[in-house]
Amino acid sequence: MRAIDVHVHPPTVEYLAESGGPFFANAFGVSKKLETFDSLKKTFTDAGVQKAVLLAWDAETHSTRPRTRNEYVAEIVKQYPDFFIGFGSVDPWKGQKAITELELFKSSYGFKGVKFHPPAQGFSPADPRFFPMWDLIQEQELVVLAHAGHTGYGAGLPGGGGVRLAHARPFPDYEILANTFPKLKIICAHPGWPWHEDLLALAMHKSNIYFDLSGWSPKYIPANVIRHAKSLLQDKCLFGTDYPVISPKRWIDDFIAMDVKEDVLDKILYRNAAGLLGID
Ligand SMILES: [Zn+2]
Repeated sequence: MRAIDVHVHPPTVEYLAESGGPFFANAFGVSKKLETFDSLKKTFTDAGVQKAVLLAWDAETHSTRPRTRNEYVAEIVKQYPDFFIGFGSVDPWKGQKAITELELFKSSYGFKGVKFHPPAQGFSPADPRFFPMWDLIQEQELVVLAHAGHTGYGAGLPGGGGVRLAHARPFPDYEILANTFPKLKIICAHPGWPWHEDLLALAMHKSNIYFDLSGWSPKYIPANVIRHAKSLLQDKCLFGTDYPVISPKRWIDDFIAMDVKEDVLDKILYRNAAGLLGID
């Protein structure tokens, strides 16, 4: 078995306590999950995962929480070059500063993609004010990993901590994005619940929309998503854990238990991600 996890957050103070803080209070049991990158790598390689996409985080404007810096993620990737693949983050509300930062993604940081969390960042992916940013991402050929569907971020807080789930609706926002930037490769993160049917339709219709199955044990992912992942959308679906939300061993064990054909399993665990990220 071979596998690439396309969705891993740093299980460290920088991300969980500083960037997340009260927004993760009801999501991860955060304080219990702090660990080192050595132990993380062991957890993954023990589970049969050879590579993992490590994510930065910048939602400073909307959340007023500190970011998990691009420099920080780039440094970790440099320490584990055969294991981690870096995805940076920019806060769209930072305007020119975000653009200037994006220009460093490939040349300085060696990143392969950009992570967005529109509900945490408080923006709509289809807002034309951010089109210059998307245009640059498309031009730089950076892969986009963007949150879709319900989120644990802000869950259980009064008013959801000011977080809007509307910013995570696959339709119409990600359709507008995919239409406007047809060369932009967009991985909608998570099965998109409760709009998973919309997400399936988008992934079927747009060659540049993919989705990962992270954040959920496959056991609890809506049956129709699994059915499509095993059949019509087997080339558009990717393995991800949203670590530290779920462990790679549990995810993979639960998925294998769903009678996935070997060739399809290899696509979802490895080949689809390898193709998108330019890995042999
Ligand atoms: Zn995530």
